[in-house]
Amino acid sequence: MFSWDNPDDRVAIAEMNSELQHAQLELLSAQCATHQLRLRYSTDDLARFGRRDVLRKSVQAATELSEYYTSIEKKVPSAEVVAETFKPGEDVIVEAIRRVSAYLQEQRDYFFPKGTPLSNHHKALMRLYLSAALLDRVRIVELEGKRVPNPPFYEEYRALGFMNLPEVTHMPSLTFINVIVFNERLTERALFHGLVHAVQFEVLGLERYCDLFVRGFLNTKLHFSVPLEAHAFSLESKFASASRFSVEDQVRLWVKQSRY
Ligand SMILES: [Zn+2]
Repeated sequence: MFSWDNPDDRVAIAEMNSELQHAQLELLSAQCATHQLRLRYSTDDLARFGRRDVLRKSVQAATELSEYYTSIEKKVPSAEVVAETFKPGEDVIVEAIRRVSAYLQEQRDYFFPKGTPLSNHHKALMRLYLSAALLDRVRIVELEGKRVPNPPFYEEYRALGFMNLPEVTHMPSLTFINVIVFNERLTERALFHGLVHAVQFEVLGLERYCDLFVRGFLNTKLHFSVPLEAHAFSLESKFASASRFSVEDQVRLWVKQSRY
């Protein structure tokens, strides 16, 4: 079973979610085709005049799919099933976006003066993926044993019904706009991941980033399935295998295609 604490597993989890999403889109198209049938023909006519072999295969496929997804649904912790029905009002969402945005700005202002620029070695490596201008603007902080605590508003939001809030303390690195703070030691992969977020902040701006993050989190209920995060993980796995590509181009493409 995957563990969220293992960096390889985090990438595998992001890949798993992209495949799950692909399967869900295919299911949706099957649902649409079935809906057309339902609108045009009665079940009596389909049962009497439908081709037996095609009907049998359809029933079999639908039954197998239903059994499979139901077996997964049964394993989802019951606390999350309750959270599934949690739909905060627009005023609560707007306030949450404001709080997250203020928090990120505060953390950025706190850590920036303590940060150091990227080393020449890291700059040379990351130049294969990022612009020199961005690499010059970023600052790095290594906490060496200390960890960033969860944001002060978490308890309040848990009480409101927000479940599964991202555990800031357990993340390898956190990007506060253009400052990347490492809870653990700096690794090239964690640095690359943090830099992807720095590009997202630059391209989207703080307000839009927070808006997309909070709404994405409320849709998926899982931090690593938020498109901003899933994209960072998929680029991280590309970083591990590809020698050169532009993170900025990838981020702008996702913005253009409204994938965040
Ligand atoms: Zn991330």
